[in-house]
Amino acid sequence: EILAASRFVEEEPAKYQGQWKEHMGKEELCLEIGCGLGRFIGEMGRLNPHQAWIGLERIGTVLAKAVQRFARNEETKDLANVQVVRGDAHDLLEYFAPGEVDRIYLNFSDPWPKERHAKRRLTSTKFLPIYKTILKQGGILQMKTDNDNLYAFSLETLKNEGWTIIRQSADLHNSPYVEGNVMTEYETHFHELGKNINYFQALPPEI
Ligand code: SAH
Repeated sequence: EILAASRFVEEEPAKYQGQWKEHMGKEELCLEIGCGLGRFIGEMGRLNPHQAWIGLERIGTVLAKAVQRFARNEETKDLANVQVVRGDAHDLLEYFAPGEVDRIYLNFSDPWPKERHAKRRLTSTKFLPIYKTILKQGGILQMKTDNDNLYAFSLETLKNEGWTIIRQSADLHNSPYVEGNVMTEYETHFHELGKNINYFQALPPEI
């Protein structure tokens, strides 16, 4: 009910496939996969009014909290360039047309540590071709994670799949890339515990 009533929710994402920028009236489209409570997209949307920000999240109760926060917070309640979609990364090709997305963000994605679950990691060979398809030429995939194993796995898989790593740091908060960094909920938690935050940006293979 909360989701159905919220103007921050796009309930029929497939309807806007290929038309998100027009629909949201922006020239750039940015997507966070697994947006959780939404702090990152809210803040990025506020700081970058020329960009449209979409948060994809598969758990409805989490998303309901996210949109309630957007509506309550003075800084986000009037934003027109932030929208969330309840859905799964597996279905991204139904939501977005080839080359439609400028930037994809993976923040503190589930690590799926067991080898038999490796395909479920959001940087597995199952998902990278999907990201490559929906990203525009020169589009960027960015990841932040506390999980050192997921970080190593992601870098290796991306390289094997022909992606180019353009920035990387195993300690974002002590690197030059921290400038302009917007913290996510999970990031604040792990950073306060003193955990290093891993970070990279990558370009898809040229088609
Ligand atoms: N990005 C937030 C939340 C990280 S937790 C932050 O940094 O604070 C990871 C989130 O990704 C969870 O809310 C989980 O439900 C979501 N998620 C995991 N796999 C997903 C998938 N395949 N599709 C959509 N969301 C997913």
